[in-house]
Amino acid sequence: MTETDLFETIRGQVCRCAYDLKLEPDIEAILKMPMREFHFSIPVRMDDGRIRAFQGFRVQYNDARGPTKGGIRFHPDETIDTIRGLAAIMTWKCALFGLPLGGAKGGVICTPKEMSEGELERLSRAYIQALCRHIGPERDIPAPDVYTTPRIMAWMMDEYSKIAGQTTFGVITGKPIPVGGSEGRLDATARGGWYVIAEAARDADVDLKGATVAVQGFGNVGSNAALLGQFLAGAKVVAVSDSRGGVLNHNGLDVQRLLEHKEKTGSVLNFEGAGNITNEALLELDVDILIPAALENVINTGNADNVKAKIVAEFANGPVSNEAEAVLGKKGVAIIPDLLCNGGGVVVSYFEMVQNLNMDHWDAADVDSRLRKMMTSTYHAVHETARKKGFSLRQAAYTIAVRNVVEAMAARGWV
Ligand code: NAD
Repeated sequence: MTETDLFETIRGQVCRCAYDLKLEPDIEAILKMPMREFHFSIPVRMDDGRIRAFQGFRVQYNDARGPTKGGIRFHPDETIDTIRGLAAIMTWKCALFGLPLGGAKGGVICTPKEMSEGELERLSRAYIQALCRHIGPERDIPAPDVYTTPRIMAWMMDEYSKIAGQTTFGVITGKPIPVGGSEGRLDATARGGWYVIAEAARDADVDLKGATVAVQGFGNVGSNAALLGQFLAGAKVVAVSDSRGGVLNHNGLDVQRLLEHKEKTGSVLNFEGAGNITNEALLELDVDILIPAALENVINTGNADNVKAKIVAEFANGPVSNEAEAVLGKKGVAIIPDLLCNGGGVVVSYFEMVQNLNMDHWDAADVDSRLRKMMTSTYHAVHETARKKGFSLRQAAYTIAVRNVVEAMAARGWV
């Protein structure tokens, strides 16, 4: 059996809402297609003097609720279908949290690990040159995603500002603090995820202290998920992995030391006091909470039957395939959906935009308390809808989000 791709999966979620929301077929059709797509070739001078053309994309999925917002990925396996799916997820995520934003996503097919810093900078600037007429604080605001960093966001903001002839911090979020970045943006996705898990655990009468956790992915989201799991929730992180493989210690890993080890060696593998495991084995560990924080469709028909975790918290976008979700459901595994679980990233990105537009800078405690309030209240809205309608958390989240977008489309006179 082949897995449904991410974009089809997200379209399926909209179909599932149609009956409950009494959506007209024409409106449903609009919601299942992106509004605009840009495909472009990006010529970049490489260090050896040759010019290489990279393929880039930006999908602006729906802007009924405001300018579109979403990250940019640099990944060798990027496809337009994945970007469409991720842009759709951003639309529903922003709407679920009530942000005045639509959804978008961008990507470039490239292998950043094999590129020098100079090549990455030239690619980042060229991406903005190709797209500059279609983005901006009131049009579309990119952010970091897989293999893009605050440094890359700074180059992109600088390139846009040079073309615009004025410093425009508000064109991009996830920037470093000295150039309009927000306090708390770096760990916002992970922090927000743990705020949601804490509420879900309280509702299910589960004690997070000492709960065992495995995290797939040790980048921005995964490493902060592991760190905060330990320090914020008091959980025991027993396993983590990156693209090369994972490490396991049933007594718990020292995540701070593991970060230093990764910094030194380039991977989490061969960490003192822990055994190496494969990425596949990590997903099948008998833990209380499994946190996929890398790529989409990693829990699929090939392994769903072997997942032993009690809770799967989707810190990545789309980590559980459509088919796997049905298998996990039958096994009684609770899924905290991406839309809700990883929304902290875009929430603090929105805070960053608000600060930039007001020439303001909020302190870390202010950002954190606003984030916590938003994650907690959105979780309770989703939980309450799920309880009332007998829906999964995912279907409840989609129902709220799709309704919010349709209301905006109707108010604007589009439908
Ligand atoms: P990142 O580039 O910082 O980290 C990605 C991590 O995944 C790295 O540790 C990498 O080694 C690992 N990885 C890559 N391929 C892998 C594989 N095949 N198996 C296991 N691990 C692999 O990216 P990130 O920003 O942490 O994003 C991770 C996920 O979180 C993505 O799904 C992204 O869309 C989602 N997300 C990110 C944000 C954000 O603010 N950065 C917000 C919401 C959702």
